[in-house]
Amino acid sequence: DRFISPVSAPGEEHQDRAIRPKTLEDYIGQPVVREQMEIFIGAARARNEALDHTLVFGPPGLGKTTLANIIAVEMGAAIKSTSGPVLEKAGDLAAMLTNLEAGDVLFIDEIHRLNPAVEEVLYPAMEDYQLDIMVGEGPAARSIKIELPPFTLVGATTRAGLLTSPLRDRFGIVQRLEFYNEDDLSYIVSRSGLLLGLEVDSAGAREIARRARGTPRIANRLLRRVRDYAQVKGDGTVDLACADAALNMLNVDAQGFDHMDRRLLLTLMEKYDGGPAGVDSLAASIGEERDTIEDVLEPYLMQQGYITRTPRGRMATRLAYLHFGLQLPTRFGQ
Ligand code: ADP
Repeated sequence: DRFISPVSAPGEEHQDRAIRPKTLEDYIGQPVVREQMEIFIGAARARNEALDHTLVFGPPGLGKTTLANIIAVEMGAAIKSTSGPVLEKAGDLAAMLTNLEAGDVLFIDEIHRLNPAVEEVLYPAMEDYQLDIMVGEGPAARSIKIELPPFTLVGATTRAGLLTSPLRDRFGIVQRLEFYNEDDLSYIVSRSGLLLGLEVDSAGAREIARRARGTPRIANRLLRRVRDYAQVKGDGTVDLACADAALNMLNVDAQGFDHMDRRLLLTLMEKYDGGPAGVDSLAASIGEERDTIEDVLEPYLMQQGYITRTPRGRMATRLAYLHFGLQLPTRFGQ
């Protein structure tokens, strides 16, 4: 229900198919990740081996699923996708693993939400390409071992720290996705515009980029809404005036903050005197899940320097007071 929610809305995945990059070359930004993956994939291909298991982490909407699909394409392999909460029983994972062909990619989104019994099955599968599974019950129960083809597990999670250490240790490659800068997001908006057959001028693309919270999924979503606005209120061209008017109408402010961001910052400043405030108290005050604060709201506000995290809780920075035109507390000096 949140306009700038970085999580996919129903039906959006489908619309996204046309603009989702399919190769590393089309994967914009993330230069470190791209360069490293080019080398690791090139080397694995030259040796004719499966790529090492890869963990990708970062806030929602930054391109984890996209990267997993690109890895499969670049390896010339098939991809099977699932997610932590979907794999309820050890047997669910076993069924996926035994369906893999040599070199295939198994993508597990939200891998931090695997049930511990399922996670146990994953360890020998990752380490030795072996499945240890119990069949039967009671005295007739016995364990059988099944050899698996070499495969690549790609796991995605919002924060690496959410994984148990035995699971984390089994990934040979760990990639952290960063928020995208304005140049990269402008490029993404222009590219999406082209693929959607839209007229987007460079100032229009930049305005959307500036207000997209460093997140490609949000940039593409804002572009779709600005397109609607341009179609009805303008001549169909996405330019600066049209982007600005549409985003104002949608309550996405000049920094790309929406009402939830503003609520969090204002609560921290007005109710907690700028902090420190514990994340649970903040969650209760704004009526939001703790996870949403930690995974969605806070990472961007911290990266932009509006909030800091201290051992005693979250604190609003000078920038936050200035953004809202509030009087600076004395702790900032004059
Ligand atoms: P996540 O899995 O991290 O939530 P996704 O991989 O689903 O994010 O990415 C969301 C959308 O953003 C994709 O559908 C794609 O269109 C776009 N996107 C993500 N990363 C990039 C990128 N590096 N370059 C261009 N577009 C991207």
